[in-house]
Amino acid sequence: MNRPLRPADTSFAHLIRQKNLIDGQWVGADDGSSFDVTDPATGEVVATVPNAGTDETRRAIDAAHAAFPAYSTMPLGQRVALMRKLHDAILDNLEPMAAMMTAEQGKPLAEARAEVASSAAYVLWFAEEARRTDGAVIPSPVAGRKLMTTRHPVGVVAAITPWNFPSSMLARKLGPALAAGCTVIVKPASATPLSALVWGHLAEQCGFPPGVVNIVTGSARAIGAEITSNPKVRKITFTGSTEIGKQLLAEASGTVKRMSMELGGNAPFIVFDDADLDAAIDGAIIAKFRNAGQTCVCTNRLFVQAGIYDRFVERFAARVSALKVAPGNEDGAEQGPLVDTQALDKIEELVADALSKGGDLVAGGAPHARGGLFYQPTVIAGATPDMRVTTEEIFGPVAPVYRFETESDVIASANDTEYGLACYAYTRDLARMFRLQDQLEYGLIGINEVLIVMPEIPFGGLKESGLGKEGSWQGINDYLETKYTCIGGL
Ligand code: NAP
Repeated sequence: MNRPLRPADTSFAHLIRQKNLIDGQWVGADDGSSFDVTDPATGEVVATVPNAGTDETRRAIDAAHAAFPAYSTMPLGQRVALMRKLHDAILDNLEPMAAMMTAEQGKPLAEARAEVASSAAYVLWFAEEARRTDGAVIPSPVAGRKLMTTRHPVGVVAAITPWNFPSSMLARKLGPALAAGCTVIVKPASATPLSALVWGHLAEQCGFPPGVVNIVTGSARAIGAEITSNPKVRKITFTGSTEIGKQLLAEASGTVKRMSMELGGNAPFIVFDDADLDAAIDGAIIAKFRNAGQTCVCTNRLFVQAGIYDRFVERFAARVSALKVAPGNEDGAEQGPLVDTQALDKIEELVADALSKGGDLVAGGAPHARGGLFYQPTVIAGATPDMRVTTEEIFGPVAPVYRFETESDVIASANDTEYGLACYAYTRDLARMFRLQDQLEYGLIGINEVLIVMPEIPFGGLKESGLGKEGSWQGINDYLETKYTCIGGL
């Protein structure tokens, strides 16, 4: 029996299954245990979901394994039609899915709507890419032989997703997996499992056969250990912290699984003297404060050239101070709450550290008067390399600003990190743009633009930010194996 939802949630109550989806059945944890999903803006319980562990995960893997032969050989046209239905179902439910995401995650409703729309776009993109998973005929150097390659789904895929984008991170994994003909088990973040459960519900309604999509919520350690050790899982696709990603890589080595990793970032945002200052400030606001600074591609370090440094800091701080901090479902909300108390504590520590090392507080710097998990949008000028914000992923609404003198200095500083996910630069100098493209060690480079992610592009980090690409024509490759066949004696 679903527990009744709070009255404010009636817009999405019909979508929520407070159960796990295993082999086409909606089930609780074996021992009946569960945990609450709370709204970070209010602390209220939004829903209660199963606290599953090893046995439930093994059954979900068995179900995906059993469903694989039929699903992977389903005629392509039929598979594409299912994907298109899923795309339509997501768009048909955009408003309730967005409201639900704001309730479980806290982001402003406008951002939640954009995320749901983007999720649908990924499904459609991969539905189309499914038609292009072709092989090749290789000219043979010797007589009487035909050499060919064919491509095949890797098998059972386990997808582990984070709390900051509960829907779109899933779309980038479920989209290519289902398009390639793989069956899937999903373990969403415990803070935000509802979006994934809705995906399960919609996949079921669209007619994906039982066992093709399985969703398990609960103990990360137990579910993760089963996923990494079970030989039936042929691929793991993970988005989350670099720390957990490394742990999964080590644990999965015993069964040599295919691994895709979308991990942490430490994005530099560079403003040169010749930049369009208005555009740079607009870009910095989005790149820093979207989702309250809790995105992997969020600006972590703002580098501003000496000639415009003072003007930038003054105008940026004024804009940041004017951001509307409010629950995500309030009209005009620009920054919602942080995800949990650990996140708030970490932000307070990072700000205290920066100020103790000489940072100049020019906006915010304290918990917000709204209380709870709300923190003031914050700018710290005069940032220096010895501050923790320079090397740690901030994951909150705090913008440290560093002054720099030359292009070569700032490129060296920008690259001085083990991360290599996203970076941004504002300049009008075309030759410099190409130097930046060559020299910045990042998988995603935004020049005079910060909203750079869409299904058409290969999203992925360099260095310790990850392995593999999500989106673009490359995104489906990680879900396919290439076989080579030689027919001789012809
Ligand atoms: P996280 O702590 O690494 O958790 C990510 C997922 O892994 C969650 O589902 C979590 O489950 C699960 N998990 C934790 N420990 C596990 C274990 N031992 N075995 C298996 N699964 C385990 O990261 P997060 O705090 O949710 O997300 C923030 C991080 O994600 C940031 O570092 C951010 O940069 C990164 N991120 C990267 C991208 C990208 O595309 N590169 C995108 C978004 C976020 P529980 O929730 O149950 O602990």
